[in-house]
Amino acid sequence: MNRDHIILERGRTGQTWRGRWDSFCLVLPNWTIKLAGAPYRGPDPDGFMARDAFVEHMCGYAASFSAPVREGVAVQSLQRGHDGRFLLRTSTGDITARSVVLATGGFQKPHRPGGASEFPSSLTVIDADGYTNPRALPEGKVLVIGSGQTGCQIAEELHESGRDVVVACGRAPWQPRRIGDRDAIAWFEGTHFMNMTLAELPSPVARLGANPQATGRDGGHDLHYRTLQAMGVRLVGHLLGAEDGRAHFASDLADSVAFGDARYDDIRELVKKSALDKGLPVPEMPAPPPFVADAPDSVDLVNFGAALVTTGFRPNYKSWVQFPDAFDAMGFPIQVDGESTTVPGLHFMGVHFMRKRSSATLMGVGEDASIVAERMAQTRQPA
Ligand SMILES: Cc1cc2nc3c(=O)[nH]c(=O)nc-3n(C[C@H](O)[C@H](O)[C@H](O)COP(=O)(O)OP(=O)(O)OC[C@H]3O[C@@H](n4cnc5c(N)ncnc54)[C@H](O)[C@@H]3O)c2cc1C
Repeated sequence: MNRDHIILERGRTGQTWRGRWDSFCLVLPNWTIKLAGAPYRGPDPDGFMARDAFVEHMCGYAASFSAPVREGVAVQSLQRGHDGRFLLRTSTGDITARSVVLATGGFQKPHRPGGASEFPSSLTVIDADGYTNPRALPEGKVLVIGSGQTGCQIAEELHESGRDVVVACGRAPWQPRRIGDRDAIAWFEGTHFMNMTLAELPSPVARLGANPQATGRDGGHDLHYRTLQAMGVRLVGHLLGAEDGRAHFASDLADSVAFGDARYDDIRELVKKSALDKGLPVPEMPAPPPFVADAPDSVDLVNFGAALVTTGFRPNYKSWVQFPDAFDAMGFPIQVDGESTTVPGLHFMGVHFMRKRSSATLMGVGEDASIVAERMAQTRQPA
């Protein structure tokens, strides 16, 4: 396909990554970077690129084929123009197009649970994408709400910086960083895990579930409920709300950890099968030690300086894409292989579980890009 195209970017190339916190590192090893036509060939396949190195990697990729990126152009609305083409109203003027690919990221709008609106005004409440480093937070203890990858990583960093940290935990899978002599992700390769489709999940809403707790910082190490608790981070149940200067939590910490342990059991089965299929010895995967969930139901917020909300993301297309029928009730695109089934000429990339579990990761994006481009090539261009 050789179709005229431009790429509109409201910030700069790699903008989402530029906005991540200062110590951010990839969670998946570098060898999983499989950008279209450019699988990772650098010197550190088993490492985890830090934020700025990865931004540089993306800029180098874009430059390698002179990608026609127009930086600093924010698309404010997408609609149908009078001539039947798409009309994009942007921060630098209107643009028309026969086809549009929305590649605005799989994790668009931070989600805040209801209870987070009840905190006293003295507490600074910020979402994960507003976090930069511990020094930038007001003095005092920190309440982290959410125990997915982001919540665990930020809680660890805050604890290491000397802060008292309380984490209001939800349900998340966990896994050791390494299993046997390799990274856990290497065991998943070639299994169905990364290829799992939305239809194979227990329910559509399961796509909002957390990814396994893990970190790639300092070369990668274990980071989950038990490691946080062992280092002195206080774990509590999920946030219910706040009243009279106290934050209240559900009595469900043990249940959440049990949920994570059950997912680890699934992972152990997966790894066992992967080892047998690869003709490798099955690595040792000991059961986790018992977890002691002695969590309070509430904490006094008086000495807390900040609450960090890390409870996932939701799609945000509906706020600017004027095709309501293009999205389901949760706001995800209704599509097949990235092509809208309701709006001719509209395509998507990087949607979480768009084709597979890997769709919104650097591991799956190259394959999806080829399939989306192929479908566009086969589709007759609207006049
Ligand atoms: C905390 C966190 C950690 C992650 N770690 C990993 C990891 O280790 N490995 C991995 O594979 N994946 C990771 N992911 C997933 C990661 O986000 C995706 O792999 C990757 O960013 C997807 O690239 P993308 O181009 O689809 O989206 P993005 O990188 O989000 O790019 C979307 C771009 O669209 C621009 N944009 C959005 N709206 C508009 C608009 N209206 N007009 C103009 N421009 C717009 C944004 O500025 C942005 O640059 C992580 C996600 C999160 C949230």
